Amino acid sequence: MEHAATFADPAAAQAPGAGGTVPFFTQAASFADLWPLTEANLNAVIDRGKYSHGHLVAEFESVLAERIGAAHVIGVNSGTDALVLLLRAAGLGPGDEVVVPAFSFVASASSVALAHGRPAFADIDPVTYGIDPASAADAITDRTRMIMPVHLFSQLADMAAITEVAEQYALTVVEDSAEAIGMRWDGVHAGLLGIGGVLSFFPTKTLGALGDAGAVITNDDRIAETAAALRHHGRYGRTIDHFPGISNETVLPGLNSKMDDFQAAILLAKLTRLDADIARRAELAAAYTERLTGCPGVRRLPTVVEREVKTDAVFYVYLIEVERRDELVAHLAANGVTTETYYPVPLHRQPCFAELGHRAGEFPNAEAACAHAVALPLYPDLAERQVDRVCELIRAFYSGSRP
Ligand SMILES: *Cc1c(COP(=O)(O)O)cnc(C)c1O
Repeated sequence: MEHAATFADPAAAQAPGAGGTVPFFTQAASFADLWPLTEANLNAVIDRGKYSHGHLVAEFESVLAERIGAAHVIGVNSGTDALVLLLRAAGLGPGDEVVVPAFSFVASASSVALAHGRPAFADIDPVTYGIDPASAADAITDRTRMIMPVHLFSQLADMAAITEVAEQYALTVVEDSAEAIGMRWDGVHAGLLGIGGVLSFFPTKTLGALGDAGAVITNDDRIAETAAALRHHGRYGRTIDHFPGISNETVLPGLNSKMDDFQAAILLAKLTRLDADIARRAELAAAYTERLTGCPGVRRLPTVVEREVKTDAVFYVYLIEVERRDELVAHLAANGVTTETYYPVPLHRQPCFAELGHRAGEFPNAEAACAHAVALPLYPDLAERQVDRVCELIRAFYSGSRP
């Protein structure tokens, strides 16, 4: 329990107070509760002596598959690699185009380039931040093979309309569901609404490791088999215990993208608390909304859209849009509150996609979000009085008074 004491150190956890700092992310306090289980899992890894792509990875894959209702979970070393492997396993070929929203984390589009395809950008819906189905249809050419809805922050993109566009143009739907653990559309988990999706276990994500990790998720046996081979140098078969019969033949040029068993050990422990974490995030999001409703300078608060079918939202990020965003960010930082700008540059304006020849102004909703959006601290360790503090600082900034 020595370790637990260290984790629970209030100084390390940036204890909240009237003028206290509010870090963008910490799990120092809540991780202490999980330490006994985590430690037992880590010891199991050491005892078995297989440190990557081993027993705990296999266990994590099957526990997670059961939980999200996926036929297959393929653990890999990041959400980004999961996207590359998914696109390759889904058969993306050189020069094939994938419709991708212009507002997302860069990996949504760079994964397409890494899989030898070309991103074709589309605008977003300004409320959900998901790809706009009409704009997606406009981006389709005779080279388009796939469409990649990205589910950002708290809710799914409009999967009914996107599926309709995909069917009309015979496109494969691959989901960047990296942020979307726990989100569901009519009972189906994010990432399982098309041919497959991904999850990221980057530390700040709703289910975060203590380092990089990710997964491909799919109900398609062939996609699963290919993605599993591609994560391990293109070899088919599992490597646990180096059983005879594992193929040493490389059928496809693959990556080394195995998941570490230490990360699986941590993720297995954190999975036991996922429901509670998601519920806590929802409470904190509601607290922000209550305190920021009607605040001058705030143009947009998160709005979860009601659909014809039941959808489950999960607050991974609490994102607001504000006037004078960069000044507000500096004001909060000067008062000890760290925020993140998701995402500062629209993907069609990123230098790495300059050759696609897009212009500023082409995707106005994506560009407006990039100019005005700021993500506020949101994680299970956050206290309500820290939410109060952040909101007081925001109100003070726009009313021109000093905090
Ligand atoms: C986090 C994230 C990724 C990448 O996941 P990593 O595990 O960081 O590689 C991809 N897409 C989106 C939308 C993400 O939020």
